Amino acid sequence: MADGEDVLVIKGQRIVLPDSIISGCVVVKNGKIVGIEAGYSAISAPLGAKVLDAKNLVVMPGVVDSHVHVNEPGRTEWEGFATATQAAAAGGITTIVDMPLNSIPPTTTMDGFNTKLNCARNKCWTDVAFWGGVIPGNQAEIKPMVSAGIKGFKCFLVHSGVDEFPCVTENDVRLAMMQMQGTDAVFLFHAEVELPQGPPITSQDPSKYSTFLESRPESMENQAIEMVIKLCREYRVPCHIVHLSSASALPMIRRARADGVPLTIETTHHYLSLTAEDVPEGATQYKCCPPVRDCKNRDSLWDALKSRDIDLVISDHSPCTVDLKCLEKGDFMAAWGGISGVQYGLSIFWSNACRRGFTLHDVVRVLCKEPAKLSRLSHRKGKIALGMDADLVLWNPDESFVVDQKNTRHRNKVTPYHNMELKGVVHKTILRGNLVYERDRVCDHPAGQLLLETEQGSPTSKI
Ligand SMILES: [Zn+2]
Repeated sequence: MADGEDVLVIKGQRIVLPDSIISGCVVVKNGKIVGIEAGYSAISAPLGAKVLDAKNLVVMPGVVDSHVHVNEPGRTEWEGFATATQAAAAGGITTIVDMPLNSIPPTTTMDGFNTKLNCARNKCWTDVAFWGGVIPGNQAEIKPMVSAGIKGFKCFLVHSGVDEFPCVTENDVRLAMMQMQGTDAVFLFHAEVELPQGPPITSQDPSKYSTFLESRPESMENQAIEMVIKLCREYRVPCHIVHLSSASALPMIRRARADGVPLTIETTHHYLSLTAEDVPEGATQYKCCPPVRDCKNRDSLWDALKSRDIDLVISDHSPCTVDLKCLEKGDFMAAWGGISGVQYGLSIFWSNACRRGFTLHDVVRVLCKEPAKLSRLSHRKGKIALGMDADLVLWNPDESFVVDQKNTRHRNKVTPYHNMELKGVVHKTILRGNLVYERDRVCDHPAGQLLLETEQGSPTSKI
């Protein structure tokens, strides 16, 4: 056992290991897990070690949220690294992966990536990894960005919402896939396409949610996913569907995966917890693309998560300034599409998952292990095991709270979860052995690192 100096021992009665839940302790040194013991003996805590007793709280790997839009630089008034990562830390998240768009410049070139890194440095309360972006004509940037630590690339098959991140054609996707072949990068798709005939619109009132919902039918997603599967099958580049909303795409996803097509799927906390039927008139804080659909669709997404046809769940925290939500007019068609609430992901998920028979191991699988794997971080993140980063969340799954804007830490407090009663309270968040959040208080020091190494551990640019 390690010497006492610089050793942290976390005792607890409910430590969630990959295959069991133990009463015992996790021993941490230099930010890594160096010991795991069932039971608790003097040897677990050498002289001088700091001991933290979690008692009956669940001790789980820190949540990895692989889909967060930080927007800094360029739209820092929408969201910045400090506020986004403080909110994340307060929600038991220890790693976020930043999306390449809505910041200016977008992360579509090495220059853009370097600008982003310079902005993020010393401002992060969680560890942060980065996705790059594929836009028309930037395929020469892909390999250098992979070498510099980008974990994968996102593209849009429909207008992204911001002009500096244009959508791509099938041919652009092919060119990018050729660059990604032989690398470890994953290709992420915002899977919606414009329909040639346009969506069938029956309602014109922009304050009605149904008007917006009709404008983004499931067929937009399904046709995009069909194309992704075709190209994934052809090029064998790992592909990932971000924020799947349309449950009717699941049969083709199942068939493709059964054929061995390297395709992974995520859905969001909002598609699993909100329903179109419950969106109040004019409540544009519920607007996102693709949209929140009906209750039957939500239930099918839960079934797919249970059967592992959906791999993981993320926040898709996509904030903007309050004015862009057009809340006063309640105009769904004009409002920015994006839902904020990174801080509440674990609680939103658990509030629903526990009623649907999901276990703590399921929570770890879809919120920690699979997002870490997608982000090429599973050598460090996503489970409590020897040699892993000591990223832990200590939380009470039986305790409830009401979401209050005054405790919401992301920059613009708009969120559809306001006033919602949620189950699962985060008490402490530990990042590589550092206490970064303790109930109602984030620590003073931004202990987060920028994660730029490749999974194989080969050195690239160090921060
Ligand atoms: Zn997004």
